[in-house]
Amino acid sequence: MHILVTNDDGITAPGLLALAQAMQPLGKVSVFAPDHNWSASGHVKTLHRPLRVKETRLADGTPALTTDGAPSDCVALAVLGIVEPLDLVVSGINPNANLGHDVTYSGTVTAAMEAAIWGIPGLAFSVETPEDHQGAVDYSTTAAVARRVAEQVIAQPHPRDLLLNVNVPYLPESELKGYRITRMGLRIYRDALVRREDPRGRPYYWIGGDAPTGVPDEGTDIGALANGYVSITPLGLDLTAHGMQAAIRNWDWPKA
Ligand code: MN
Repeated sequence: MHILVTNDDGITAPGLLALAQAMQPLGKVSVFAPDHNWSASGHVKTLHRPLRVKETRLADGTPALTTDGAPSDCVALAVLGIVEPLDLVVSGINPNANLGHDVTYSGTVTAAMEAAIWGIPGLAFSVETPEDHQGAVDYSTTAAVARRVAEQVIAQPHPRDLLLNVNVPYLPESELKGYRITRMGLRIYRDALVRREDPRGRPYYWIGGDAPTGVPDEGTDIGALANGYVSITPLGLDLTAHGMQAAIRNWDWPKA
């Protein structure tokens, strides 16, 4: 069992170290993560510049690789031969939840998505650290959950392109209510346009506003977390809106 550990927060992020340590009992672990924070970078394939890869070590001395590419580049480079053939890719632990439409922005999730495209199971792990949390994030519960989820994936039958988005409440492990297999909920974004002027009087814009909230419907990732459950959302790479096809076929299309 050869497991690749990556993330979108960068090689020095404590969540990466926690995830790498959680995977070590399960097999051979390779760590390959970006050299800086790529949060909310989405799914990237860097084609217009070279990518450098450097050897480094995590804070506990674990050998690791780092690159100036994106999280999904790390997975692609690994699969293309930078490391030995992989059986599983795990990404995280992201210090903020990735819920609902977040999965389209998330570097944590899109790294796992890249693995699924290559036919390797990809697991993304995020913890819902409270917005007002001060100081170091405690990754211990999510690390324990990550090991349990990875153990299940190794033990149970599943398709080659299995993609799981796992979100964990910010609770001690003993206070978790359990595990819920969920669907994507509805995220409510509260982005606001911030317009300022640079020293030369030219306007610039920043996407500001408050952190997103969400609708905690039963059966959704947002609902599970709101009730103290680990949320496991299986994702598919087929984004086709099957229910729309028939109606759009009836639009006024030219014959030829
Ligand atoms: Mn991140």
